[in-house]
Amino acid sequence: METEGHQIASHTWTHQDLSKVPAYMRRKQLWNLEMALNNIVGKIPTYMRPPYSSCDSACQKDVDDLGYHSISFDVDTDDYNQNNASKIQISKDRFKTNVTTNLANTEKNASLVISHDILEQTAHNLTEYMLSTLTQLGLKAVTVGECLGDPEENWYRQFNGSESDSTSTPSSTAGSAQASSSSSGSAAPEQSASSASSLIQTSNQFAYASFAVLLSILVALAV
Ligand SMILES: [Zn+2]
Repeated sequence: METEGHQIASHTWTHQDLSKVPAYMRRKQLWNLEMALNNIVGKIPTYMRPPYSSCDSACQKDVDDLGYHSISFDVDTDDYNQNNASKIQISKDRFKTNVTTNLANTEKNASLVISHDILEQTAHNLTEYMLSTLTQLGLKAVTVGECLGDPEENWYRQFNGSESDSTSTPSSTAGSAQASSSSSGSAAPEQSASSASSLIQTSNQFAYASFAVLLSILVALAV
């Protein structure tokens, strides 16, 4: 997956609502996945998306303390509710409409799109449609890190197996990613997306990020 150019991020160990569990469980949810991922790829991610995109202020602090950038999305394909051959057209329409709308907005010409590769229609139908549509629109699909202008060396960290050491935030992290990780609560999705937009705008490049697809794979591995 990584050698194909995807960015691997965390979606936690067993997909619990991080706003509804105690602090020790939040950390366990992130640490368990770190241990598993380290066994597979020999490093751990800097990026994560909270399950259900739910992370209140206490959760956001724990996520920050563990050195993560929490990421959300601004285009929801709703593929989870459209997983059959006819209904998936609804997700395709949502994708094209919202991406086109964002493209027309000079202050927001990038999108972070969510879909789930564990779904049959997403894996074998919607994804191909999204990529071909982007090409038709003259756009480019990139990873979340690239979308945020965060250098690739910041996308992962070395796993040291020490809980205390894992609380330090990488110092070389891009300012934009820091900004998104420091936002809290329900405001996080908007701020993450807008910081991505402004960066992409300066490089005159449009970004579509399919990180959620990768996160779903991690969930599949974990369960
Ligand atoms: Zn999820």
